[in-house]
Amino acid sequence: MIPLPLSTIAELTGGALDGLSPAGGDAPAHPVVTGPVVTGPVVIDSRAAGPGSLFAAFRGERADGHDFAAAALAAGAAGVLAERPVGGPAVVVEDVRHALGLLARGVLARLPEATVIGVTGSAGKTSTKDLIARVVERAGATVAPPGSFNNEIGLPLTVLRADERTRHLVLEMGARGIGHIAYLAGIAPPRVGVVLNVGTAHIGEFGGRDGIAAAKSELAEAVPAGGTVILNADDPLVLAMAARTEAEVVTFGRSGRADVRAAGERLDEAGRPRFSLVTPEGTAPVEMRLHGAHAVANALAAAAVGRAVGLPPEEIAEVLSEARPASRWRMEVTERADGVTVVNDAYNANPDSTRAAVDVLAHMARGRRAFAVLGEMAELGPGSAAEHAKIGQHVARSGIAGLVVVGENAAPMAEGADQVASWTGECVQVDDVGAAVTVLSERLRPRDVVLVKGSRVAGMERIAERLLQDG
Ligand code: ATP
Ligand code: MG
Repeated sequence: MIPLPLSTIAELTGGALDGLSPAGGDAPAHPVVTGPVVTGPVVIDSRAAGPGSLFAAFRGERADGHDFAAAALAAGAAGVLAERPVGGPAVVVEDVRHALGLLARGVLARLPEATVIGVTGSAGKTSTKDLIARVVERAGATVAPPGSFNNEIGLPLTVLRADERTRHLVLEMGARGIGHIAYLAGIAPPRVGVVLNVGTAHIGEFGGRDGIAAAKSELAEAVPAGGTVILNADDPLVLAMAARTEAEVVTFGRSGRADVRAAGERLDEAGRPRFSLVTPEGTAPVEMRLHGAHAVANALAAAAVGRAVGLPPEEIAEVLSEARPASRWRMEVTERADGVTVVNDAYNANPDSTRAAVDVLAHMARGRRAFAVLGEMAELGPGSAAEHAKIGQHVARSGIAGLVVVGENAAPMAEGADQVASWTGECVQVDDVGAAVTVLSERLRPRDVVLVKGSRVAGMERIAERLLQDG
C-alpha cells in the first residue's frame, strides 16, 4: 500500500477525522492536521492488524467490527475506518463498504503505472486469475488476490495492496446481479477485461443466461478505447459482447477464428493438456501441469493477456507449462501410497464445471476404476433438480464405475444416473460427508481414481482430506 495520512483517507472517502487527540491528554499524539500515517495493510479482521495498518470496521451478521477497534489500535493500527467514533484515531464514514471502494479508487488514481486486468465469467475466474498473474508477473511486478477475493470487499482490499512498484493488478470480478461488475469496475477501472464464459452459475439470481450475459458484459463496457477486451470465441454469448465496447477486441478459443488459439490439443494420460499456442506473433508448445480440458480455455485467456502486456508467445507458453494450481481444492490431484488417486475439486461446483471435472475423471480412468463423489450444486434456482439429474446422466454415460451422491439436494443426480439403462456402474446415495467416506473406504482398491466435487456449502473437501489421511 502507498503510505497515506489519515486526513487523506478522510478526503478520499468523504469521511470525518475523529479521535486524534487522546482524551484528557495535553499534547496530541499525532499532528492534528493529518493524523497518523497508514502504511498498510488494510484489514477487516482486528487479529490481522499490526503497526501502520488501517482497520476497516464492518458490521457483520454475527459480530460488529466496531467492538474490535480498540484491539486493532492496541495492536498498532494507525487508524480505523468506521461508522461511529471508536475512541481512537478514525475516519468516520456513513458506509464502510462504500468507503473502502472510494479509498481503493483514490489510491489507484495515484498509481498511473498500474494496469488493471479484470477477469469475469461463470466458471474459471480464480483459476484464470492465477494463470494471468503468473504470466504478467514476467512483464512486471504484479498484485493479485489470494483465492477468490472477487466482491465489493475483497476487490478493494486487493487494490489497496498495490504500491508504486506495481505494474499489473489482476482482479477477479464476480457478479451476483446486474450492476455488480459495473460497481467493481468503478473502483478499479480495467485497461484489460477478460470474459471467460457465460454458464449457469448463480442462474437462480439472474433469471436466465441472458441476464448472466448482461451482467458479465458490464466488464467489456467498462474497458475504454485504448484498452483491450479479451473474449472467448467459443462462447456466442461472450463473443457478442464485442459490440459493447470501444476497446480493441481480442478473441481466444479453440475455434480457428480466434486470435489466440490452441492447435493440436490433446490430453496426456494423466489428463493434462498439451497444445500449440497460436498467436499472431508466433506459435509455441505448451505442456500444462494443470488438469482438465477446461484449463486450455483459461490458459488461452491468460495468453491473450500476456500478449496485451507485450510478452512473446514463447515466454507465455513457458509460464503456462510451469503453472501449478495456485488456489486450493481446484483439481488438486494427489496419489495415495496405495496408488489411489484423489482429485480434489471441492472448492465449488456448477453444472459446467462439474461436467468438465467428470470428463477429466473419465479421461484419467482409462484402464482404472473411477468414482465420482458429488455434492450439491447450489444456487441453481427452480431448474436445480433437472440440472442435478443431467449430471447424474452424464456420469453414467461416461462409464464411471461408481457415483456417490452426497446430501439431499444432490439426490436427483442418482435418479438421473439410474435413467441410463446401459450403465453398469453403482450409484450410492448418502446423507453426509462421514457416510460418503465410509462407503468409499469399503470400496476403494489400489489404482482407483476418485473425484470429489460440490458447491462450497457442501464442504466436500472434508471427504478428500479424510480419503488422503486414510491412504
Ligand atoms: P467462483 O464464482 O466460485 O469464484 P470461479 O469462477 O472463480 O468460481 P474457479 O474457482 O476457478 O472458478 O473454478 C471453479 C470450478 O470450475 C473448478 O471446479 C474448476 O475446475 C472449474 N473450471 C475452471 N475453469 C473452467 C472453465 N473454463 N470452464 C468450466 N469449468 C472450469
Ligand atoms: Mg473464484
